[in-house]
Amino acid sequence: MNGPFVLPVRDIVRRPGEMREHEFSVTLKDGWGEGIVAFEAGSELDLDVRLESVHEGILVSGTADAEYSGVCGRCLIDITRPVEVEFQELFAYPGEEETDFEVQDDHVDLETLVRDAAVLALPFQPVCQPDCPGLDPETGERLTESTGTEHAAPIDPRWSALQNITDQDGTEESRAAEKEES
Ligand SMILES: [Zn+2]
Repeated sequence: MNGPFVLPVRDIVRRPGEMREHEFSVTLKDGWGEGIVAFEAGSELDLDVRLESVHEGILVSGTADAEYSGVCGRCLIDITRPVEVEFQELFAYPGEEETDFEVQDDHVDLETLVRDAAVLALPFQPVCQPDCPGLDPETGERLTESTGTEHAAPIDPRWSALQNITDQDGTEESRAAEKEES
């Protein structure tokens, strides 16, 4: 048995209560997932795995830190996002019951377990940001974020001309007021 997700359990097999922890990284040979975001081939997973010997077999639990990439479901820009994948499964000793996961030759192979959990952790509707405004339905261009910057936009020159007149009026009025006072 070999592969990047295979771990030896010989030293804890049939020794309930024994526990081992493994930290390791795997570079994906093939991509995982087929949606608009996926774990790409060549991307890295950092795994933190706990193996516990129980009566029925080896209880595997852990997390995988990974990054998925693809496009935003609304505006279609490229995105890459970190995600923590959690998984847990009992790898039974071979024998009576048919199970999907078995201890084989004193090893457990976590690939299917981690891959299934990772694909499930992918968002159905990935977005570049929670309030992504998406695409303009008419032009098809990406709408810019409403960050309040429109207030800083230069005043239309026609309005700025009016603004000057108003300012002058104000000045003249106050001068007139000064004259009346004196
Ligand atoms: Zn977006």
